[in-house]
This record gives sequence, C-alpha cells and structure tokens, in this order.
Amino acid sequence: RIRLDGVSKQFGTTQVVREVNLDITDGEFLVLLGPSGCGKSTLLRMIAGLESPSAGRILLDDRDITATPPQQRNVAMVFQSYALYPHLTVAKNIGSPLRARGRSRQQIREKVTDVAATLGLDEHLDRRPGALSGGQRQRVALARAMVREPGAFLMDEPLSNLDAALRSATRTELTGLHRRLGTTFLYVTHDQVEAMTMATRIALLNGGRVEQVGTPSELYDAPRSTFVAAFLGAPP
Ligand code: ATP
Ligand code: MG
Repeated sequence: RIRLDGVSKQFGTTQVVREVNLDITDGEFLVLLGPSGCGKSTLLRMIAGLESPSAGRILLDDRDITATPPQQRNVAMVFQSYALYPHLTVAKNIGSPLRARGRSRQQIREKVTDVAATLGLDEHLDRRPGALSGGQRQRVALARAMVREPGAFLMDEPLSNLDAALRSATRTELTGLHRRLGTTFLYVTHDQVEAMTMATRIALLNGGRVEQVGTPSELYDAPRSTFVAAFLGAPP
C-alpha cells in the first residue's frame, strides 16, 4: 500500500505538484492521467525516489519512505526501452539488478529464465537490444523490473514510442500481466483511451493537483468538474 500525504514539489519558484493525497491499494492498476506538464512524471519519480518532495510524506505499508533511496524502496520503475544497456545481451540486461545485488550466477540464470518465459522473451536472451523490435525492447525493460519482484511497478508512458497497432497489443498484454501477477501497477499517461481501457482506478491531475480519483466509469459518468468531463470526452 502506497500513501501520498500532502506531497508537493517545487522547482525554483514553480510549484508543479500541489499537496497530493492519494491512497494506492495493493494490486490495483492506478493510472495517473492528465495533460502534458500537469506533474505526472514528477509525482511518479517522487514515488520511485528519483526526486524528493518539497513537502509531504510518502508511505509504503505505513513506513515513511520519503527519504529512502530508490533501490531500497520496494517499487520498480520500468524505464523506457531506450534505457537498456546496448552492449549487453537481453539476458544480462534483465539480470543486471540481481547482479548489482550480488546474487549468484545460478540464481540469476533461474530468475532470468523464469521472467523471460513469462514475457515471451526466451528466444531473444542472447541477442542485444539493438536487434529487437520496439515492443520486444519494452518487454525487456519490464522484465528487468520484474526480476526485482517489487511490490509495485511504476511506468511512465511506456508505450509512447510504439506504433498504434503495437501500442494496442501491448495494452492488452500489460492488463493481462497485471491480472496474472496481482501486483500494483502505477501507470502514467496523458492518453485517456489508455487510461479508460487499462485502469482499475484513475487519478486525474490538473496543474499539479488531483482533480478526481475513481474508477474509469465513475469519472466518465460522474465527472466532478468540467475539466474532468472535457478531458475524458464525456458529454457535459
Ligand atoms: P508530460 O505529459 O509532457 O510528460 P508531465 O505531466 O509528466 O508532462 P512533468 O514532467 O511532471 O509533467 O513536469 C511538470 C512541470 O514541471 C513542467 O512544467 C516541467 O517543465 C516542470 N519540470 C519537470 N522537471 C523539472 C526540473 N527538473 N526542473 C525544472 N522544472 C521541471
Ligand atoms: Mg511526463
């Protein structure tokens, strides 16, 4: 369970995240949705520990992790596929977090094989990222997060550099994976179709504030403001 308690972020004199309170339940697929520049990535990066809040607290299972370094938080950021190591094989890329933790080669091999099978990457383990398609590379990035067995996956527009057909296929794949793993997914997008089709809950942000939180149909059927209605394209 992740809890945001009055989380704010200021860059210089600009406040980009404003007193966000949010309770993220175990196993949900929560989409942080909102227009460009509303603070989605900043909020996700604060949960990942890559950015520290100017005010407020972040709690993980009631433990204050506001000052905990990223590697020691039980969450894993799925970076865009271009963040893979180009000179390493897929297997080495996937295993890199375990190597950093000093696991044995045997342990690493078993875990990598296991995760690669789950994501259909078995046949690509000896290749390098440059020899894979965009969708395959994105799966390697996901696999690299999965070997850490985190309590939550954090994703920032993971599909943005895929073409439309692949984007739609990967959406289905991700919701299926979420169902199978039962792990919390925290997913950032500015795409309302992605949010409506994937989320169990949506937190819609506007200017650094949470406008409304609820299931896709709650937001669509009972928007709390004209902003929510307009953003989701619901009739006013
Ligand atoms: P997008 O959909 O375009 O990715 P976003 O909702 O993810 O947008 P953020 O990246 O969180 O938005 O940025 C929110 C605001 O904070 C923007 O105005 C951005 O310019 C500003 N910002 C983000 N990071 C920094 C930084 N390191 N220094 C200064 N300003 C920043
Ligand atoms: Mg962003």
